[in-house]
Amino acid sequence: MLGRRGLFAAAASLLFLPEAEAAGMALSARHGQTRLLVPLGKAVAWRVSATAHPARLIIELPNMSWHGPSRLAGAGVVSEVRREGRGATQTLVLSLARPIATPQVSVSHGKLAVVLRPGPAAGFARLANGHDLATAAIARPGPLPLVVLDPGHGGRDPGTIGARGTLEKRITLAAALELKRQLEAARRCRVVLTRTRDVFIPLGSRVEVARRRQAALFLSLHADSAPGARGASVYTLSETASDNLAAALARRENLADRAGGLRLPSVSPEVGRILLSLIRQETQMGSERVARLVVDALEGEVPLLPNTHRRAGFVVLKAPDVPAALVEMGFLSHPKDEAALNRASHRAKVAEALADAVHGFLGARGPVMAAG
Ligand SMILES: [Zn+2]
Repeated sequence: MLGRRGLFAAAASLLFLPEAEAAGMALSARHGQTRLLVPLGKAVAWRVSATAHPARLIIELPNMSWHGPSRLAGAGVVSEVRREGRGATQTLVLSLARPIATPQVSVSHGKLAVVLRPGPAAGFARLANGHDLATAAIARPGPLPLVVLDPGHGGRDPGTIGARGTLEKRITLAAALELKRQLEAARRCRVVLTRTRDVFIPLGSRVEVARRRQAALFLSLHADSAPGARGASVYTLSETASDNLAAALARRENLADRAGGLRLPSVSPEVGRILLSLIRQETQMGSERVARLVVDALEGEVPLLPNTHRRAGFVVLKAPDVPAALVEMGFLSHPKDEAALNRASHRAKVAEALADAVHGFLGARGPVMAAG
């Protein structure tokens, strides 16, 4: 009935959770189940193991600050819970009143839940015989991948101005903040914005944010303008523009620095060629992949520009080592797009699709279970 020996004993989970205090630790018993709930702090890994003599369940929580109780009175199969702090590692020792079956360990809503049921003594002895596991290193959580969101324009550079006076720089910031909120809620990546206020940031500096911090992905958000056009579109970097619209758009977006009154981090045609030749193939492939994911995610959710994925020489996409895409969320020159982009609900929908694409790009990164 136990499966592999020590199946649960080295269950380590890599989590990244908002700071929480362990004050709400609770032990309860109901319907033959004993449940321990431990609120986890930020970036906590945990490991559960057992010893037979004395009969104990041990929960180790590295990198955790503790503000909760040091002792809990027993309930159900647990006669007492004690906390033993060793440096930054917290250890919870559960003294067992009787043998238990394999515990169910899970995490939800920032709490570690350990559910215990009575079990046969022989089974528990096998469970607790994880001698080798006692010396196994506790997995430390690695940092989550970093996604840099770049709200286009800002400060003296308003970007495109809509038919009804909507400023692109305001739409891009609102959309980026919403996307940041959604991505952070999903806890599968860290998020940094190139700007969080209405300030002017040169294009080169935006790229540098992603490069310096070794971002896994750079997403620049914009809203375009062109007579008669409507719908969202996605752009990746290319030496040669895929079409006139893409070329004109890249020219306009690249002018942002001049509009802001600062000199471009002068990208001469020659330097541009060298920069482009430095783009590793995998970066390019990553950019193409994220663009495809963005198109797939937006499809059916918002109107799309025909030939939704286009290519052109955007300065802001020129980090040679960070996959990057530029999303034009719609045309502020089109009254329907302008009205939609002014609605928080529409921006949330766009952000939801983009979050899906980001998650697809980063791959499935759920809690990692390492069984012993
Ligand atoms: Zn723009």
